[in-house]
Amino acid sequence: MKFIKKSLIRITLACVLLLSITVFTLPVGAVDHSTHYSINPFVGWNGHESHVEWWYSQMGSKNFIGEISYACNSWNNTPTVINMVRVYSKSGSVLRIYSNNWGDNGWYGQHIPYIGYGNINLNEYYSLSYTQWAEVASHEMGHAHGLFHYNCASELMKASGFIGTPNPYTGDIAGINAKY
Ligand SMILES: [Zn+2]
Ligand SMILES: [Zn+2]
Repeated sequence: MKFIKKSLIRITLACVLLLSITVFTLPVGAVDHSTHYSINPFVGWNGHESHVEWWYSQMGSKNFIGEISYACNSWNNTPTVINMVRVYSKSGSVLRIYSNNWGDNGWYGQHIPYIGYGNINLNEYYSLSYTQWAEVASHEMGHAHGLFHYNCASELMKASGFIGTPNPYTGDIAGINAKY
């Protein structure tokens, strides 16, 4: 789930941290992001990871197919086994993506796992940029692939706020490769 409410606190915290780094430490060493992931052992594709058949249904007034496709391409371009494949029948899909206006309920997107498949909901109530919606979709796909949140500012799987791209980062990719 991509939360909204906590983002201000995090931004404030990030600013304070950034400030202290700038003031107190001059040479900043390279951060190793390769362990920045958390695997959900209960969610995964069980063989479908190399052909994740996804299906999209627009239920509200906004069409997200461009943003969703962008998110899929981002995952397909990672050095992982993940390959997202669009299908046009719900029954032949393992990932069902819906968009609708669910109102001011505190989330942009959510992933709901079921046995054998999963749903992603995108809440068109909120106004985000094209890239931000692609990032929300990509983040929820990360949950569908079997990743929990990991609190690193660079990772797609952080709980709130944006990294500015739907492309998974080092820890996200390492998590997928550790799982599959
Ligand atoms: Zn999430
Ligand atoms: Zn990281």
